[in-house]
Amino acid sequence: MPIMSKGTLNNLIGGEWVPSSASATLPVINPTTGDKLADCPLGTHADVDAAVQAARGAFKTWRRVPAIERARVLFRFQALLGEHKEELAQICTTEHGKTLSESLGSVRRGIENVEHACGIPALMMGESLEDVARGIDCATFRQPLGVFAAVVPFNFPAMVPLWFWPYAIATGNTYIVKPSEQVPLTTMRMMELALEAGMPAGVLNMVHGGKDVVEALCDHPEIAGLSFVGSTPVARIVYERAAKTGKRVQSLGGAKNHIIVMPDAPTKRGVSVAIDSVFGCAGQRCLAGSVVVGVGDGYDKLRDGLVAAANEIVVGDGLKDGVGMGPVISAEAKARIVKAIDLAEREGGKILVDGRNKTVEGYEGGHWLGPTLIENVTADMTLAKEEVFGPVMALRKAKDLDEAIAMVHASQFANACSIVTDDGGAARQFKYEVGVSMLGINIGVAAPMAFFPFGGTKASLFGDLKAHGSDSIRFFTDTKVVISRWS
Ligand code: NAD
Repeated sequence: MPIMSKGTLNNLIGGEWVPSSASATLPVINPTTGDKLADCPLGTHADVDAAVQAARGAFKTWRRVPAIERARVLFRFQALLGEHKEELAQICTTEHGKTLSESLGSVRRGIENVEHACGIPALMMGESLEDVARGIDCATFRQPLGVFAAVVPFNFPAMVPLWFWPYAIATGNTYIVKPSEQVPLTTMRMMELALEAGMPAGVLNMVHGGKDVVEALCDHPEIAGLSFVGSTPVARIVYERAAKTGKRVQSLGGAKNHIIVMPDAPTKRGVSVAIDSVFGCAGQRCLAGSVVVGVGDGYDKLRDGLVAAANEIVVGDGLKDGVGMGPVISAEAKARIVKAIDLAEREGGKILVDGRNKTVEGYEGGHWLGPTLIENVTADMTLAKEEVFGPVMALRKAKDLDEAIAMVHASQFANACSIVTDDGGAARQFKYEVGVSMLGINIGVAAPMAFFPFGGTKASLFGDLKAHGSDSIRFFTDTKVVISRWS
């Protein structure tokens, strides 16, 4: 069967594309044009159970496949992703709206995870020691645990699923992906390529849906672990609910990332780091800067530079050359972001650049917002506290680095934070004192590569093991200890 039947997307179960048992669907909308691309079924508990049974069946044989052979499937998948990267970026821009170069960047970041997971024979090795007592040896083996699942957000359909399933499968588990119902198409194309690479039936499955499917994944007794990425309120619910059935859970939530610009930093660099971070992907990145803190007497020049640069950003169709920012994901997201800007204004913020009434000629159905820059943001304002997840920059002033760091620590979130400076002492104080997990020094988007762990603390991550890097191998395996005495 093809990946969709009469415009409705199919699930991938046991190596076949099969219709969902759901009657309800949600339209997948191109945010640039407003056109419908497909209908995504809002799946059911029965769909989840069918995927679990397929994955459980496949686990029996897949876990016995030698690690090097499991890696070979991923090597072939990596090659196919490379051959199809432009096509994947095109699909990503069409369903998500980000620019083609941003989509391509996210496909590359996804591929790097597959490349890293290809090293599984070395990554998965245990440890051993002879004579832990006289004549007694001890060894650890990393073993797969069974069926794992991921629930992913709308903002990186090419990359975020690849933070998880290549590692889970490389370590011998089997898998179920629940893509975002807003952007399922890029992930589906990747699933097709995985099948083409020789992924055995049932090893990798996909179930479409929303809240019901997520709850069924949390509750299913035959799923060993769940990885979630999305907003903090849902991340918290998923963490608690999935843990109730004894699952391993890693649940990555939202963010409110600060960019501290020190007075010694060249204004040009401060402006470019902050603008790229805040407005790239229309602010829909968990690593996007959202509060820019100008320290000391560099503030006025920084503000003027930011206003000029924000006004220069070309908003439009991400498939076109020269466009710097695409639309936001949906009409609902646009309404929510406009409401956050209105509230910031009512709470005392001064709007320096206003993107609320943005239109793009020829694209009247698109979900447009221009870059927005708000000054005079104080600690008590909602804009200083809550995630907006859109192209909105809050601008704050601090007298020194200590005050800027106190602003960072006042946040409930601790995902990413950046400093722009040429002062080594300031950079070291920042690195040492800031209690946020992903730090950038003269880097505005502090994205760890595949071989390092990705994730925050506080309300940005529920759980202890992060995505990819060595954390991922620990998450997807049990460390079995064997103590032996042979006389
Ligand atoms: P979301 O929380 O609305 O949805 C995420 C997933 O959860 C989707 O698959 C969705 O179907 C499901 N879901 C939604 N509501 C649910 C509910 N009530 N119960 C159960 N499941 C539910 O997030 P989103 O809008 O898709 O993505 C944006 C959010 O993701 C932002 O908050 C962003 O910061 C966060 N994010 C975090 C990271 C990170 O690494 N920490 C990375 C990317 C995105």
